[in-house]
Amino acid sequence: MEAVTGRSVYGGIAIGKLSVLRREDTTVKRIRTEDYKAETERFHKARKDAKKELKVLYDKALKEVGSINAMIFEVHRMMLDDPDYVEAVENTIKSQKINAEYAVASTGDNYAEMFMGMEDEYMKERAADIKDISNRVIRVLQGKNSDGEGADTHVILLADDLAPSETVQLDKSKVLSFVTMGGSSNSHTAILARTMNIPALIGVDYREDFDGKLGIVDGYRGKLIVEPDEDTLKVYEKRMASDRERKRLLEELKGKETVSTGGQKVNLYANISGVSDVVTALQNDAEGIGLFRSEFLYLENNTYPTEEQQFGAYKSVVEGMAGRPVIIRTLDIGADKKADYFGLLHEENPAMGYRAIRICLDRPDMFKTQLRAILRASYYGKVSVMYPMIISVSEVQRAKNLMEEAREELSQKGIPFGKVNEGIMIETPAAVMISDLLAEEVDFFSIGTNDLSQYTLALDRQNAKLDAIYDPGHPAILRMIEMVVNNGHKHGCWVGICGELGADTSLTEKFLKMGVDELSVSPSYILPVRERVRNI
Ligand code: PEP
Ligand code: MG
Repeated sequence: MEAVTGRSVYGGIAIGKLSVLRREDTTVKRIRTEDYKAETERFHKARKDAKKELKVLYDKALKEVGSINAMIFEVHRMMLDDPDYVEAVENTIKSQKINAEYAVASTGDNYAEMFMGMEDEYMKERAADIKDISNRVIRVLQGKNSDGEGADTHVILLADDLAPSETVQLDKSKVLSFVTMGGSSNSHTAILARTMNIPALIGVDYREDFDGKLGIVDGYRGKLIVEPDEDTLKVYEKRMASDRERKRLLEELKGKETVSTGGQKVNLYANISGVSDVVTALQNDAEGIGLFRSEFLYLENNTYPTEEQQFGAYKSVVEGMAGRPVIIRTLDIGADKKADYFGLLHEENPAMGYRAIRICLDRPDMFKTQLRAILRASYYGKVSVMYPMIISVSEVQRAKNLMEEAREELSQKGIPFGKVNEGIMIETPAAVMISDLLAEEVDFFSIGTNDLSQYTLALDRQNAKLDAIYDPGHPAILRMIEMVVNNGHKHGCWVGICGELGADTSLTEKFLKMGVDELSVSPSYILPVRERVRNI
């Protein structure tokens, strides 16, 4: 028995034969040809056939994984019609007097290299797409069958990486899990895996000789176990069976209301850190997004994300949630979340240091760039904004003033935006104690129990030595939550919890009794919390 670790992109357990994906040889030979017209025609015919294949894939994905995920195949179809791309292939055939296969391959490589050289992470990932469409056209030109046929029956598939089209073509009834060496949690492969509901690991250093052996994928711990001994196998078989039963019961809660037997309704939203998490949120039937940790957009970049980049990301989330509410938290950088380009100095006590709203109010231009992007996204759905780490009324007022300025700037340019409700995170003891005053300023409160616990209990949430006594369910915190709910309600604010404590089902009944209006939890906790609420 041996175990290899990797990073899980979707939880669950799978047990089965390991199968290393082998692709056909795709080397493309350079062949000289004088008849560039015939080669160009071959290219166009292959392009048309490739588009037909993509339409079939789109329809299949639409049924299986929904429109957001299926969209990638529409995008690929559009890329094949891109005049620059098409012209580049035509010119290569004509000027270099070469075969269509080689022209498509070299154009694809050039474009992929160009995308890889871009700073924007999103654009970087498009390199895989351009390679994918070029390989598809080459395969058609070579008269080979559709790709992704390497999968054996009932296997854990091991691959260096999987193109989006390969992932969706996997027959779910045959593939138990997939494990890749490459890939990122932002890649389509990861998104699709989560949506397809099969455990998946990335960054796993597997060996060719694993092929054909028995394996276990532990998607909870990010582990691949090869040739497990009998005891290990028994343990995992048991866990798999209970997982299955639990999942089945939870699935039945999709589409049902989050309401107690006594008729008390609670809004059950998801916490996300990026656009790709929308898929998981929807998959788990989130009724909205209660916390979009927008700082991840900043952390992924080497420089400040532009208004356009941010607008694109927020709009994708809003459109993905299709009319359900989305609460975007403004930049919460600092403390453990640092990006070099902010030029933040070393601090003795960063958790209590220069972070979040403190930085944003000092850098109004940067802050307003984000606020304008959020406002613009609100044109496409229900958007609210919330400000983190608030300790005073004046901070809220200053943030609101900058929001007003951002509105005016957009109006002056004639750029459309919708109504954006404003709220704050309650995550400092100061905010709890003046929540009656703060409630006069905003539409809602969202209690961040992770930070609130650290500041109230004087326990650094990053310090592993304190894990045993870090207790967000401490009576002090529960009293604070109650106080915030009462003060919020008295002044017309709704109150939610978006810290990890919100997912603690042993406290759900207490939260309902206190009158908490919303719980925003990691997507995988949505159905367990709904189950708990419905049993109260
Ligand atoms: C919190 O502090 O509870 C919270 C939700 O925010 P974060 O964990 O991102 O600090
Ligand atoms: Mg926090």
